[in-house]
Amino acid sequence: MKLGRTLGRGGRPLRIGYGRIFHEGCADSPVPTTEADFRRMHHLEGAELEAAAGLRGTELKSFFPHAELTGFLQASRAAGGVDAVPLSSSLAVPSGPVTRECFEWLLERLTTRLREAGPLDGVYLALHGSMDVVGLEGSPEAEIVRRVRALLAPEAMVAASFDLHGNMTPALVEQLDVLVAYRTNPHWDLAPTGFRAGNRLIRALRGHVTPVKAWRKLPVVLGGGMTIDFVSPMRAVFRAMRAMEQRPGVLATSLFMVHPFTSSRELGWSVHVLTDGDQSLAERVADELADLAWQASETPIPEFYSADDALARAATSPWRRLGPVTLVDTDDIVGAGAPGGSTRILEALVRSPRPLRALIPIHDPALYATLDGEALGSVHDVVVRGTPGYAQPEIALRAKLVARSDSELGRRVLLAAGEAHVAICAEPPLPIHPRFWAELEVDVRAADVMVQKNFFHYRIFHLGYSFEHIPVTTSGATSVRRVLERAQRVPVRPSMTLTDWREGDRALRS
Ligand SMILES: [Zn+2]
Repeated sequence: MKLGRTLGRGGRPLRIGYGRIFHEGCADSPVPTTEADFRRMHHLEGAELEAAAGLRGTELKSFFPHAELTGFLQASRAAGGVDAVPLSSSLAVPSGPVTRECFEWLLERLTTRLREAGPLDGVYLALHGSMDVVGLEGSPEAEIVRRVRALLAPEAMVAASFDLHGNMTPALVEQLDVLVAYRTNPHWDLAPTGFRAGNRLIRALRGHVTPVKAWRKLPVVLGGGMTIDFVSPMRAVFRAMRAMEQRPGVLATSLFMVHPFTSSRELGWSVHVLTDGDQSLAERVADELADLAWQASETPIPEFYSADDALARAATSPWRRLGPVTLVDTDDIVGAGAPGGSTRILEALVRSPRPLRALIPIHDPALYATLDGEALGSVHDVVVRGTPGYAQPEIALRAKLVARSDSELGRRVLLAAGEAHVAICAEPPLPIHPRFWAELEVDVRAADVMVQKNFFHYRIFHLGYSFEHIPVTTSGATSVRRVLERAQRVPVRPSMTLTDWREGDRALRS
């Protein structure tokens, strides 16, 4: 059954449904993502969703009080005459591929609410763009939009916003009337992104603008330095995008620096441009933006160190006297979907000749369970194995159980073995904030070395005392080496030396 269409003009409000299915997948994580993960983190429907996305509500608890859907509701309110209809909203933290059962459950919740919503003029969806679903070829987000479209009248419009790490595909882009992406990395502009999507969609539904699009897909999976929006080389690209949007007729510009850790064989950066009815303008701006992004992608990502070299460098670092040197475990980035159970830095520390007061978080739910009932102060001979199924070296330690914590930062116990302090975690650890260690009665500022499972965001919380940041490669689920070894359908940077993006673009968009 097709839902009927209403015009939303002549004094009758526009009816627009809104919802979210949001997950960033990591193909090499042995931890699958299930319905329970979404239910634990974020799953709201109907009136509950409407309240959470209001200005007095909390949309994504413990992340963002106001995210995309709050922004969308604000755009609806600002436009006036819009009846915004809450559907369903689901988000889980980045982790392994979503199981097929879970994906069908997510779609079932969204489409059930859509059927119950009655006639709609349009739908707005907050998506990630780099979901990975077990056994599903092609873009999961394209499948989500396809199922939504199947329930709408042909004239209804669909808008979607994305994380700027999304992997755009022809099947996805072609189905969308309005497409926008975050403009900040790390991401803080979730609500403004939802506002822009809602604003463009409402104007289009009212016939005030006629969105036409052009996009390009660049044969790049890694590049652009640290890909931070306010740091060279990407700063100049984001600044140019804002200037492009000031040109008459340009409705939106988007840049995607793809999350490279899904199972897709068609990964690539992309650019997307929406104009008001002017196809040739859209094509010209898309080419211009693609040229800028291509140029910026020549800047390589930072150089990585082995765990042994990183510890040696930290031991002699002059910055160590001012606070901990940070080792970024780039192969086990929990914020990008890795499980956080790598034992390789601990292994290097154990064999290091230099005693370093080190803080190391490790996901090891089995070891956590055996230590959970033990008394503080007790001494144990333990074997740290990391995440089950993660093929990590086993590290034998004689260690004292010195603290435990159970908070929104996860369940964990602290083991002290000589100078090494290891937080054994029941859940994938994200020690971005010093509170992760403070809750275990550890002052991070007194450490020589602290291990992070996050690329950049943690720096905001350790600005005053951690001055050296060493990227470490340890062979885990977010390994850049594995990205480079994974076969892609077309030659891509940086595995191949390419002088032009156009040939790759034609292949990737065909
Ligand atoms: Zn992202």
